[in-house]
Amino acid sequence: MSTEIAQTDTDLATREAVERAVSLLRSGEVVALPTETVYGLGADAFNAEAVAKIYETKERPGFDPLIVHIEGKRALDTVASVPPDISRTVIQLVETFWPGPLTLILPKTDAVPDIVTAGLPTVAVRMSAHPVFKRVVRGLGHPIAAPSANRFGRISPTSALAVRDELDGRVPLIVDGGACSRGLESTIVRVEAGDPKPRLVILRAGPVTVEDLKPFGKPEIAEHNEAVENNAPEAPGMLASHYAPRTPLRLVAGPAEFRPETGKRYALLSYRGQEKDGFLGLADWDEVFVLSPGSGKLPEAGIRFFHLLRQLDQLPVDEIIAEPVPERGIGLAILDRLRKASARS
Ligand code: AMP
Ligand code: MG
Repeated sequence: MSTEIAQTDTDLATREAVERAVSLLRSGEVVALPTETVYGLGADAFNAEAVAKIYETKERPGFDPLIVHIEGKRALDTVASVPPDISRTVIQLVETFWPGPLTLILPKTDAVPDIVTAGLPTVAVRMSAHPVFKRVVRGLGHPIAAPSANRFGRISPTSALAVRDELDGRVPLIVDGGACSRGLESTIVRVEAGDPKPRLVILRAGPVTVEDLKPFGKPEIAEHNEAVENNAPEAPGMLASHYAPRTPLRLVAGPAEFRPETGKRYALLSYRGQEKDGFLGLADWDEVFVLSPGSGKLPEAGIRFFHLLRQLDQLPVDEIIAEPVPERGIGLAILDRLRKASARS
């Protein structure tokens, strides 16, 4: 199969790209699409055979459920039935964060094929803010099931070229919607009734932060073993090893923890590239990549994270050393990816 990349740099090109994507999705094909988080590999969520192609294309294990992207807030009822005891909170979250990088876990309706949710009784739902993605879902008239457009366990793609690196020859079309404006996968939240406040269980940290969620309930980071107890990882974000470069990556807690071995070649992924953080002078680095040069800004670091990780992975070095980022805001999402990228399975 040859992979076409459709541009969206003019109105005409965008219209053609959207039409081409919709027509492929209608005929049961998978298409790579831009979202504000990372690029997704989409299929018609109501077409089980098309959804099966997502798993094949990504080499994703069947136990790992997909996210369903809806066209608008009102379409939520078509894929999920919101329990009355959490409906007020769900409505508040939807009104505040949609369209945007928040995925909610809710009981699924019968319209959602089991393959989408990997047999789970719940479905992960979100509404993307990307203008091109929005037009494609609207054009299709069905929700789109779409996980990230990378091979399973690998670095999430944040540009059309990154998708091509992952899936060239495996998908008929990649719609190029530019670089992703958030650069990290959506925050996944399960809402539970609670007294005095509802519990907001964060299954995957992302661009919507703990601080952002606080006004709506009690945010809690889900324990890893909670998913294991259920006999299935609730979110692959929860698998120990994920987002992994081919070159070994090591997240170090502080400069004192790293001593270079002679003869080994190292690259550094630095938070803000500052001498005073103590990493720059530790080794004769082959390369230093900086997430947010200067004073360090976490949203910027989030946007650049997967892009830089992918570039680092192309270097002829033995190991990538990653500086920690601050453990707050989007920093939690970055640290989560760094820990998983550094776990070798
Ligand atoms: P990806 O977009 O590739 O990161 O994959 C979709 C994410 O949503 C994965 O982390 C899934 O495990 C998660 N997910 C999808 N459906 C569910 C569900 N019903 N319950 C919990 N997590 C889910
Ligand atoms: Mg993924």
